[in-house]
Amino acid sequence: MLLLALESSCDETAAAVVRDGKEILSNLISSQIDVHAAYGGVVPELASRRHLEVINPLVDDALQRAGVEKNQLDGVVVTRGPGLIGALLVGLSFAKAFAYAQQIPVIGVHHIEGHILAIQLEKQVEYPFLALAVSGGHTHLFRVDGIGQYRLLGRTVDDAAGEAFDKVAKMLGLGYPGGPIIDKLAQESDDGDIVFPRPLLKKDNYDFSFSGMKTAVLNYLNKLDAEPDKEQLGQISSAFQTATVDVLTKKALRAAEAEGLTRIVVAGGVACNSGLRKRFAELAETERLDVFFPSPILCADNAAMLAVAGHHYLQQGHRSNLDLNAVSSWPLEQAGIFSG
Ligand code: ATP
Ligand code: MG
Ligand code: FE
Repeated sequence: MLLLALESSCDETAAAVVRDGKEILSNLISSQIDVHAAYGGVVPELASRRHLEVINPLVDDALQRAGVEKNQLDGVVVTRGPGLIGALLVGLSFAKAFAYAQQIPVIGVHHIEGHILAIQLEKQVEYPFLALAVSGGHTHLFRVDGIGQYRLLGRTVDDAAGEAFDKVAKMLGLGYPGGPIIDKLAQESDDGDIVFPRPLLKKDNYDFSFSGMKTAVLNYLNKLDAEPDKEQLGQISSAFQTATVDVLTKKALRAAEAEGLTRIVVAGGVACNSGLRKRFAELAETERLDVFFPSPILCADNAAMLAVAGHHYLQQGHRSNLDLNAVSSWPLEQAGIFSG
């Protein structure tokens, strides 16, 4: 089954062609960082406009690189939500029109289901497993018993981890998006004598909180006599990353243990983080766990990741109707609902 996959939930327009939910024939991502950088964050209206400009040529390009003609496709899979409503509607409307014109089925899937299943494009991970979805809008722990079978174990009560990386970077005047910049500085520096708090770590649950950590960084900055110099910026970045990684890994481990799970899949943009990858690799050794990270290109927003679920659902005979609407928020436990 040959699928065209489309993603436009936030600030990346992405198109991919994937065979049988496994083999990536093309996977193109058009980032809008240049559009939003000046504002220090994503501006929804500008995001929608850029999606609209690039989606047509991007799909043509994805098909061409895959060596696939439109009439060879068996279906279209598209992100239905969660995300920015105007941005989602560009991808969804395109997908529906394309599918209608080609007389093939369309299916609208959950963006986080895409992130979690991305690993299956590279490695076959057996179910059940624990998923840590950690991105710009999510920091959630799920028990995954199969495609479409997700149970929420814990989540952030305020900011997502990626959002915290971005906001801390903004406070430090480092630019946007902050995650990769902080990661780079953290790799080049130690924590100095800075220790940031680990919110909710002592609480007996699997929830996270990152807004307090952000405030701790702000308080630290306010106590400095002058603007932080290069060395201090490195140490603050490093200490913030250490604290974040500590909370993410410890809570994930605890949840895995409580659920009797020995496999952990880390997914979403923050899964690119080198500190997180390193710490989980160490824990995999000492705790005898299998920890899986997709390649960075499949951690960040992309369209190929959607084809795993899309292929599975279409094969089961599911499809969306042409009146399918985008949804800005959508609990993952309801991922297997394809209409409305
Ligand atoms: P969601 O997936 O929750 O809808 P999103 O799609 O906007 O949100 P992603 O594109 O999956 O989020 O991830 C983007 C986030 O990942 C940004 O917050 C970015 O700063 C963060 N990020 C990317 N690379 C790194 C890194 N190396 N270290 C830490 N964070 C990173
Ligand atoms: Mg993004
Ligand atoms: Fe994402």
